[in-house]
Amino acid sequence: MAAEIRLFPCLTDNFGYLIHDPATKATASIDAPEAAPVIKALEREGWTLTDILITHHHGDHVGGVAELKQKYGCRVVAPRDKAAKIADVDLRAGQGDVVKVGGLLARVLETPGHTLDHISYVFDSEKALFAADTLFSIGCGRVFEGDYPMMWDSLLKLRALPDDFKLYCGHEYTASNVKFALTVEPDNAALQARAEEVTRLRAENKPTIPTLLGDEKKANVFLRADEPSVAASLRMKGADAAAVFGELRERKNKS
Ligand code: ZN
Ligand code: FE
Repeated sequence: MAAEIRLFPCLTDNFGYLIHDPATKATASIDAPEAAPVIKALEREGWTLTDILITHHHGDHVGGVAELKQKYGCRVVAPRDKAAKIADVDLRAGQGDVVKVGGLLARVLETPGHTLDHISYVFDSEKALFAADTLFSIGCGRVFEGDYPMMWDSLLKLRALPDDFKLYCGHEYTASNVKFALTVEPDNAALQARAEEVTRLRAENKPTIPTLLGDEKKANVFLRADEPSVAASLRMKGADAAAVFGELRERKNKS
C-alpha cells in the first residue's frame, strides 16, 4: 500500500509534513517546526508519531521536537554533523544511509550549503523528496554556513533525481521566488506557467507544494545556473555554474 503524505502550515511560512505507512502504522514527521500543528494533524488522521526526521538544526525545523518526543516517545533522526547542537537525537544519518519508517525507506542525501549539517530525505517508492531549506519551489535556501559551490553541488544532487519525483520543501516562499525568477528569465515559458499557477493557488489560499521535480528543472532558475541563457541574462557568459549560482543567490538576497 502506498504511503500517505499530509502537509500543513506551521509557524509563519514553514510546512509541516507527515508520512504514514498504512501497513505498519508508522508515521514520521519531517522536521518539527512546532508541536501543536503536528499533534493536530496526527489526531485528525488517528496516527501515532513513531519518528521525526530532522533536516537541519535551525529552530524553525526543530522547535517542536522535545514536546513531540515527550508525548509520543518517538525516535529522532538527525544529521550526522554534530557541529550544531540538536537535542533528543536517537540516530544520526548521513549520505547514503537508509532510514526506516515502518516499512518505508528514506534515503539520506547530504545537501550542505544553507547549513553545513543539512540533509534531505528521499522516499524512492513514493517518488517523494523532502528537501527542507535546500531546494524551494522556484528558489533555494539562503547560503548561511556553506559557500556557493557547496550549495550548487547540493542542488545538482537533487536535480539528478527523476522528473516525476515530487518536491516537498520547508517553506511557502514560492510567490516571492517566482517574482525574482521572472527578473532573470522573463521569457521562460515554464516559469510563466508556474507563475500563473502560483497566483491562482495563493488566491485560493492553497499551498504551492508539492511540485514536480521535472517542472522545477525547467522553471527554477537556481537549478538552471548552468544554462548559457541564464549566464547571458546576468552578463556572465562563459562563467562557471557555481559562480552564476552565487550571483543569482546574491541578487535574490537583495531583492
Ligand atoms: Zn533553515
Ligand atoms: Fe527554515
